[in-house]
Amino acid sequence: LKIRSSNSGHESHGKCSIEGWFTEETARKVFAAAGLNFDTEKSAASHRGYKAKSLGSLKASVSLETKLTPIDSRNVLALIEGLTKEIVVFTAHWDHFGVYSDGSGRIYHGARDNALGVAALIALAKAFASIPKEKRQRSVLFLVPTAEEMGLLGSQFYCEQPCTAPISDTIACINFDILNIFGKTKDVTFYGPADGKIDAVAAEAAKRQNRRVDPDPLASNGMFFRSDHFNFAKKGVPALFINMGFESIDASKGKDFIRQTQLDWNAACYHKDQDQVIVDPNHPWFWDLSGCVDDVRLVYNVALRLVAGDLAASKC
Ligand SMILES: [Zn+2]
Repeated sequence: LKIRSSNSGHESHGKCSIEGWFTEETARKVFAAAGLNFDTEKSAASHRGYKAKSLGSLKASVSLETKLTPIDSRNVLALIEGLTKEIVVFTAHWDHFGVYSDGSGRIYHGARDNALGVAALIALAKAFASIPKEKRQRSVLFLVPTAEEMGLLGSQFYCEQPCTAPISDTIACINFDILNIFGKTKDVTFYGPADGKIDAVAAEAAKRQNRRVDPDPLASNGMFFRSDHFNFAKKGVPALFINMGFESIDASKGKDFIRQTQLDWNAACYHKDQDQVIVDPNHPWFWDLSGCVDDVRLVYNVALRLVAGDLAASKC
């Protein structure tokens, strides 16, 4: 069971005195103790109209000692100005977890999560800076938020106090977080729908690369709700969050190669010190960035149309 005080800067502050997560195994025990069957309730809860049930006389007592340490950190922003007041925002969080707290000296390197995303953002900043201003109807904001890993705090701060343009003039947010390191793919996936217009432009851009858009095969991870674009989406700004493709162009690797390797990578490297650049081609998660280049080019082509002013501003 993990518990944290709601006074942690997280947005649920004020709703509950404590909030927590526990494993399915523990949930089953709690349901059983309340005389409920976990599987029956879970399946009933997936249908519209399900009403929450009381856990009867079950009570929890929790004691919690907390120490609050204020931390000063910074969002990093760069704006390339266009002709109108509207802006397109790119986001890629720069923070990770620093050093392990167990005194081992191990470092959360965060190479893929999210130095790779920041590198993509910088490459796009260079590309957009080389476009003459008269071709940029809209400005482009490159926002590198802090404290994403602590609950999307940097992007939340920006969305509440946008310092470049009002949220109402922000026409799209395009986010990078954990890009593809497994080579070129025949398909591409996005986390969640953005909005009809941007999704259609993304599908066109994929088609020009002879790739198809597939649904996210790991949708149950709920990534759409777990990265910085989500704060923009909550304000009604269409948010495009590219995931990656899952069918390698190398058919000899098998249809399930990338999905399985991604799951293995998650288990071994995600939010661990093993999240490092791997240059050994024989290693299971050797960094083959050829597919990542395709993905970033695809996003560039989508953003190019948005920045050129092709699509009218549209809110979710
Ligand atoms: Zn991340």
